[in-house]
Amino acid sequence: MTLLPLDRELLTDASGPADLPRPRSTVRELPAYVAGRRADCAAVAALASNESHFPPLPSVLEVVAHSAATLNRYPDNGALELRESIAGHLGVDPVEVAVGPGSTGVLQQIITAVCDAGDEVVFAWRSFEAYPILTRLAGAVPVMVPLDAQEGHDLAAMAAAITDRTRLVIVCTPNNPTGVSLGQAALESFLAEVPSRVLVVIDEAYIEYARPATEAAADPATDAAVADSVALYRAHPNVCVLRTFSKAYGLAGLRVGYAVAAPAIADGLRRTGMPFAVSAIAQRAAIASLEPVAATEIAARVGAVTAERERMIGELRLQGWVTPDSLANFVWLRMPDDRRELVVDLLARNDILVRAYAGAGVRISIADRASNDRVLAVLASVAPAL
Ligand SMILES: *Cc1c(COP(=O)(O)O)cnc(C)c1O
Repeated sequence: MTLLPLDRELLTDASGPADLPRPRSTVRELPAYVAGRRADCAAVAALASNESHFPPLPSVLEVVAHSAATLNRYPDNGALELRESIAGHLGVDPVEVAVGPGSTGVLQQIITAVCDAGDEVVFAWRSFEAYPILTRLAGAVPVMVPLDAQEGHDLAAMAAAITDRTRLVIVCTPNNPTGVSLGQAALESFLAEVPSRVLVVIDEAYIEYARPATEAAADPATDAAVADSVALYRAHPNVCVLRTFSKAYGLAGLRVGYAVAAPAIADGLRRTGMPFAVSAIAQRAAIASLEPVAATEIAARVGAVTAERERMIGELRLQGWVTPDSLANFVWLRMPDDRRELVVDLLARNDILVRAYAGAGVRISIADRASNDRVLAVLASVAPAL
């Protein structure tokens, strides 16, 4: 894996003298997780991590303040109330729900629960960069299947990549960093090909932007373009739905995500989780975020972001950029490295932080209209000729 010059700064030399304790070679050779650059002042537009640009909801802040009074106590390790609330929200049973510190934490629990050393984990590439890291950390082997020409998952190639050693397949929809999502029919035929002993994780970190709660039932176009993962789970007990409160729910700093899976798998996830990993504050904030009053506000925020996303995609194409139909809260611009360096530098000099991928392109989170307009103005000055 190639690292950007910026990323190298984050790497400390983990090799150390061989006669002193040092991390095992798997760990020494892990690529560092590259976090999006953080803004250090309000003038900087932080568009590198797909966070919600809205401040926390007042109703959520209130329960956070209230829960702070019991910080001397450990949280409920079983997170029963939160699991009941998630289960009610999705129409499943609490025994089918497991929570963890962000869906990245839950994914680590999943890999630990199902993979022995040498087992294979199949996923698309480029996708979420935690996948190869968590796979290698578990001693498992990443099998990375290139995206298709439309920047989406090549499900036929992914099905063909499954071997006797495959324990896990991860599909990411909408895909980070390209924004392309998987439809119901495509996932159904994929699942028909996957042996039932292989767990298929559907990572839906951005699903709220693809399938707004208020429209899902009414819009057949959305239904076809965006799979109903919970329905797929009901039909295929080897499916595991992975979601997070970090993105549309705006709780990235609190670390809470969850999986919906068959009771035996959900139980395995609860066993592999670090004890007390999800704080009481995070549990209460997540419960509050699913309350109807919060849900209405979140739906309005999601609506604002998706409207801006559509505007951005339209404007970028008018400028001459090639960008896929993202259904997430970001847009993807594939470009060669020399151009990428120019674009990212120019944006940075205009106080706009975006996520750069060596050898691939640039991912830009959607935020408020003013920030998006700043992005468009800078990109217009370096747009490819039409
Ligand atoms: C952001 C993201 C996650 C989850 O992040 P957490 O903060 O750990 O919940 C999971 N999957 C993808 C694809 C993401 O982009």
